[in-house]
Amino acid sequence: MELEPVIGLEVHCQLATRSKLFCRCVADFGGTPNSRICPVCTAQPGALPVLNEQALALALNAGLALHCTIRDQIKFDRKNYYYPDLPKGYQISQFDEPLCEWGELEFELEKGGTKVAKIRRIHMEEDAGKALHPDGANVSLVDLNRAGVPLVEIVGMPDLCSPAEASAYLQTLRRTLRFAGVSECDMEKGSLRCDANISVRPKGQEKLGTKVEVKNINSFKNVERALMFEIARQSEMVARGEPIVQETRSFRDTEGSTIAMRKKEDAHDYRYFPDPDLPLFDVGRNRIEQARAALPEGFVAKRRRYQASWGLTDYDTRVLTEEPATALFFESVVAAGLSPKSAANWIQGEVLAFLGETKGSTKSDISELKITATELHALVQMEERGELSHQAAKKVLRRMLETGVDAQNSAVALDLLQIRDSGALAATIDEVISTETKVVADYRGGKETALNALLGRAMRATKGKGDPNLIRELLLQKLGKPGS
Ligand SMILES: [Zn+2]
Repeated sequence: MELEPVIGLEVHCQLATRSKLFCRCVADFGGTPNSRICPVCTAQPGALPVLNEQALALALNAGLALHCTIRDQIKFDRKNYYYPDLPKGYQISQFDEPLCEWGELEFELEKGGTKVAKIRRIHMEEDAGKALHPDGANVSLVDLNRAGVPLVEIVGMPDLCSPAEASAYLQTLRRTLRFAGVSECDMEKGSLRCDANISVRPKGQEKLGTKVEVKNINSFKNVERALMFEIARQSEMVARGEPIVQETRSFRDTEGSTIAMRKKEDAHDYRYFPDPDLPLFDVGRNRIEQARAALPEGFVAKRRRYQASWGLTDYDTRVLTEEPATALFFESVVAAGLSPKSAANWIQGEVLAFLGETKGSTKSDISELKITATELHALVQMEERGELSHQAAKKVLRRMLETGVDAQNSAVALDLLQIRDSGALAATIDEVISTETKVVADYRGGKETALNALLGRAMRATKGKGDPNLIRELLLQKLGKPGS
């Protein structure tokens, strides 16, 4: 019997707000344990939550970027469960009336072409704190800095058919959310977390098999590893005729396997009910339409625009839209006056190579560059005016990237400015002509290419800084046409 996997992802994403969802505590990652807490996020009696409007705006952007239907009135519900890092004994979430429903995400397939996966819902909720179990100490500790941090949970339909599809979906989702300004989506810092629902069924069968939820997947690579392990495990169970239990399993990175954590809860286990501390909230058609109009341009639209308006290649547009910061820098360099093709070449060549070498990886660090768009433009103008050779311009840019010093001063510091003063070059040329008597004689005898030898000699004499066009011109002035 041939089996096929059915996969759906549930993605938690931390909204990029300064403060928490229902209080004014700082929402950043880290911090001294329990330094970013207040009566609201530690659940002191009588403390009341107030909705963070910026969190609502970002959740709205997530829904719009994923083509969802948006509710114009929302409510929050209590999801009741007990855990030491959840001081209220419940999590404020959204149950039956989520902010966004029925969206979709188009992503590219490895074999070519694209696929559209449906998004079932996106709801807002608060994060829990963190329980810490220090090695060797006979205690457990609780850090509530993360308690109350705003999240959206993006629940995908089980539309994915392979681990590779799941990974492509997740990466496209991440890029979409980053370009919409919703979240940093940094898996290492936990601002993007992914749980995978997976079942297997006989090929061609309509009815879904019993699903298992895998938690604690902490990288794109591990999404594929966890799913591959589960497909093999469940297929073997089916082959042996064993029933698959609906349960939550945990991914173990070192072994590349999953282990059972607990029986999967159903919604009724959480005893959801509307949070009486929070009123019904009017999102309003106005707010939704304004947000739609102001939604930042997505990476797919950017790629099309770069190709259609600026004539860039598919490859160029992909590199430039890998990260929002790269696209932003590229566009600001074009706005500063550089041609799009030239801007694309300089950024892809020198700037990204510099970031790749110096920081070990990643183009996202482009936001930390020490140079501005105006300075990159100024450098290229120096090359265009003949003040720098192309090779020298590359060296100057490298220094600018390292030090943050502007183009002019970097060129001076490196002593790379081309000598474009005919008076200064004349002496060098006289000297070349007087010492290279044989080559000069060849040239005068009609050997045209001898001029290049003299030019090369003069360039060496100026340590490569002489303007080659000017030197050629001056040589021709002194020597006349070959054979003359
Ligand atoms: Zn607080």
